[in-house]
Amino acid sequence: MSAANGRILRLVKNGPEREALESGQVDAVLDHASGTALLLPEAERALSSPAGEAANHLLAALPRRDYERLLAELELVALTYGEVLYEPGARIRYVYFPNDAIVSLLVVVEHKALEVTLVGREGLVGIPLALGADLAPVRALVQGTGSALRMKAASFREELERCVPLQREIYRYAYAKLVQARQTAACNRFHQVDQRLARWLLITHDRVRGNRVHLTHEFLADMLGVRRVGVTTAAAELQRQGLIEYHRGDIRILDRRRLETAACSCYRLDEAFAG
Ligand SMILES: [Zn+2]
Repeated sequence: MSAANGRILRLVKNGPEREALESGQVDAVLDHASGTALLLPEAERALSSPAGEAANHLLAALPRRDYERLLAELELVALTYGEVLYEPGARIRYVYFPNDAIVSLLVVVEHKALEVTLVGREGLVGIPLALGADLAPVRALVQGTGSALRMKAASFREELERCVPLQREIYRYAYAKLVQARQTAACNRFHQVDQRLARWLLITHDRVRGNRVHLTHEFLADMLGVRRVGVTTAAAELQRQGLIEYHRGDIRILDRRRLETAACSCYRLDEAFAG
């Protein structure tokens, strides 16, 4: 929970810590087993953003009154790198509005995974629910540790029926994702691996703070639908041009402007829909 580090004074696990929380001795209790964070209201507000606004763009776009009503249904959770939120075919129990967490959605075909999209603070995980489906079509895997607000599936559906602004935001986002999925199908077919790598690095960079991105070789291979050696060659080329520094999955963006030039034209479309 990188956003929380500066604000939560002490992190404790369970047991008597609950009392400590209630008596105001600590600001937060993190339960690592369930990935749940219990926060004092002040800490929760501080976590959302310095101004008390929602960090998630879909929630931030809602009228204040709707946002505040929704908050009662939303639970702040810590998502950890590698955690699986849904498996394909499983019932969707929660929708997630990421703050600084990043979740990748992967199509799983015969035990191989292909990245279809990344979800960060611009979106939500759980679109199928909004479109009338109960089961997850893809695997949702936490790609970047951070926080998110989650809501029970039933509450989300109720809110969607009563809250037109929420509906509008969710449908706008679902449409953007549809456009992006089509574009990615064409991108995978027509654009070079180093252009596509540059595109996904930019998409990831847009969803993190700072210039560092952590993406393993294996994940990049899934993301680009190529073998690992293809990733090595493409990353080496971007590094040779001085655009990135790459070491064991730690990627530092050295020249954002030139990386945008190196990316295929699909990135401009991603950007237009990023919200
Ligand atoms: Zn492309």
